[in-house]
Amino acid sequence: MITPQIIRSNRKTLSLSINENADLVVRAPHRVSYDEIKKFISEKSAWIDKKQRLIKAQLKEKVNANLISQCLYLGTLYPLKIDNNRVEPISFNGHIFTIANINSEKISLILKSWYKKRFIEIAVPRLGYFSNKHQLKFNQIRVKEQKTLWGSCSSKNNINLNYLLIMAPIKVIDYVIVHELVHTIHKNHSAKFWQKVETIMPNYEDARCWLKDNGYKLRRL
Ligand SMILES: [Zn+2]
Repeated sequence: MITPQIIRSNRKTLSLSINENADLVVRAPHRVSYDEIKKFISEKSAWIDKKQRLIKAQLKEKVNANLISQCLYLGTLYPLKIDNNRVEPISFNGHIFTIANINSEKISLILKSWYKKRFIEIAVPRLGYFSNKHQLKFNQIRVKEQKTLWGSCSSKNNINLNYLLIMAPIKVIDYVIVHELVHTIHKNHSAKFWQKVETIMPNYEDARCWLKDNGYKLRRL
C-alpha cells in the first residue's frame, strides 16, 4: 500500500495526482473516510503505478542531464551550458557549448548529430587528402557510430569511420584515417603494415596511446 499525502478540503470528490517527486497526493472531501480513500487508491493503482514510473524516469533523466556538463571536441574539454531561452538546439562559440534545456537523452542525440556534422566537415576531407597524397585508393566512405571500432576497411576497400572520433585531437583522427587507408594495401597488422603507417605518420604511436588511454571518454555519450 502506497502511503499518500492527503489534502482535505471542502471539495466534493476524491482526486489523485502524482507530484514532481513522484509521490501520490490525494485530495479528499472532509467527510470521506480513510478506508474509502484506500479503496479509491487501490482501484486506481494501475494508473498510479504508470504515472509514478514516468515521473521517476524523468527525475532520473534530470540527474543524468546534470552529469553532462562538459563536451570533448578535438581533444579539448569545453563547458556545456544549458540555456532555456535558446532556439537552436546546440551552439558552440569556440569556448562554450550551449544546449537548449532538454532531457539527457536528447542532449546526447543533439551532441551526436553535431559531432557527426563536424566529423564530416573536418575529418572526411582529410581522408581524401591522405588518400591522394599517398596513393591509397579507397572505394566508399561511411561515417557512423560504432560500438567497438574507431574505423574499419572492408575487403572491397570501403572505409568506415566512427564520428565519435571528432572528440579526439586531430592527430588521433589522422592516425585512424591513415591506419584504415593502409589497410587498403595490407589487410592485416603485419610488420609491413606498421612500416607503411610509420612512413606516413612517424609519430603514430602517440596517437595510438592516446586512443588506448582516452578512448572510453569518446564512448560515454
Ligand atoms: Zn587495423
